Amino acid sequence: MGRSNVGKSSLLNALVGSKGLARVSGTPGKTQHLNVYGLPPCYLVDLPGYGWARAAKRDRESYRALVDTYIRHRTTLRGVVWLLDIRHPPSTDDRRMQDLLVVANRSVLTVLTKADKLSQAQRHAAIRQRAADLGLTVDDLHPTSSSTGLGIADLGESILAACSD
Ligand code: GDP
Repeated sequence: MGRSNVGKSSLLNALVGSKGLARVSGTPGKTQHLNVYGLPPCYLVDLPGYGWARAAKRDRESYRALVDTYIRHRTTLRGVVWLLDIRHPPSTDDRRMQDLLVVANRSVLTVLTKADKLSQAQRHAAIRQRAADLGLTVDDLHPTSSSTGLGIADLGESILAACSD
């Protein structure tokens, strides 16, 4: 789960090691359904990206109903992989999602995407900043890059461990 353009399709493709499995979006926010990928022993469910600036009010409301219901009530949901762009402070929509995850009492893997866009020094500073923004520790955050592969194998292992718990 993450806002549109955060790099979710790219991360999915990097995780399952198959380019073109999840569509890298030309028109962010258009997808209003759930795509499900088998990642034995569990499934990855690709929620549509939120926060699309040009979305119509009606689409926003139907998105909200879909995702809120899924996060709150899906009994087989083991956890949520939540994506944030490493470079940007959480948006209002990100904050709302964080509140929803807390209320729903979900276990969350918080992923920072596009880490290759920063130098190593900038990356460390950004990780500390995002941790402060979110009220988390730096160890709670998983920096990744779908371009260089940074953090992808570790994230895959964390997801599989969460599935097997
Ligand atoms: P989605 O809308 O969240 O599914 O995002 P996409 O996977 O379609 O990516 C949005 C844009 O960000 C595309 O232009 C991607 O090529 C780019 N992108 C995604 N992940 C990365 C990354 O790790 N590094 C860099 N440099 N660009 C990325």
